[in-house]
Amino acid sequence: MNIILLGPPGAGKGTQARQLVETRNMVQLSTGDMLREAKDSGTEMGKIVADVMARGDLVTDEIVIGLIREKIEGDNKGGFIFDGFPRTLAQADALGDLLAATNQTLDAVIEMEVDDDALVTRITARSTCGNCGEGYNDQFKPQPADGKCSVCGSSDFKRRADDNEDSLRNRLMEYYKKTSPLIGYYYAKDALTKVNGLGEIAEVQASIVEVLDR
Ligand code: AMP
Repeated sequence: MNIILLGPPGAGKGTQARQLVETRNMVQLSTGDMLREAKDSGTEMGKIVADVMARGDLVTDEIVIGLIREKIEGDNKGGFIFDGFPRTLAQADALGDLLAATNQTLDAVIEMEVDDDALVTRITARSTCGNCGEGYNDQFKPQPADGKCSVCGSSDFKRRADDNEDSLRNRLMEYYKKTSPLIGYYYAKDALTKVNGLGEIAEVQASIVEVLDR
């Protein structure tokens, strides 16, 4: 089963994707994570995308489609979760072509609905463990008082460079201009299901699982 998690920055796509990886053996394909890895390891492509990402603009379709193309032919044991991809109509068309060319299907597009105020609060408060990727939030799930990740014990916590108000405003505008048309695109293909993204992590997960088990 291959699914897309669709929603603005801060909707909780990454958090929900990680839960599905753990509980259902699915494979998370996050273009944001792939681009951050390229940037951190200083590859040519990483250098090209660094400024674009810091501003909160979208990286070119060509680059992100190339990243997904490489992964889609690889291991797909429990199905792919596309997280942060596609973000434009051209990317959505390319994904359809790539899946068809590898005899795979797109089984669900789950739109995570949240309001803008919640996004700003979530994003400016979030951090992750640099070692295992566990997510924290200053308000709802603070980093443990002993300064060690509750999952792996590492004390290397990170905040994303683009999780600041200026960049976030731009990321939201990019979402409304370029990504939100995908809601209509997948609705017209009868593939779209909306879930309320505002609840507790476990509640949102339960709504997603219900869609997957339908
Ligand atoms: P994310 O981690 O999904 O919030 O992505 C972080 C940043 O990476 C975005 O603000 C974009 O600059 C870039 N990015 C990630 N995925 C894509 C995509 N599918 N298309 C274009 N840019 C992307």
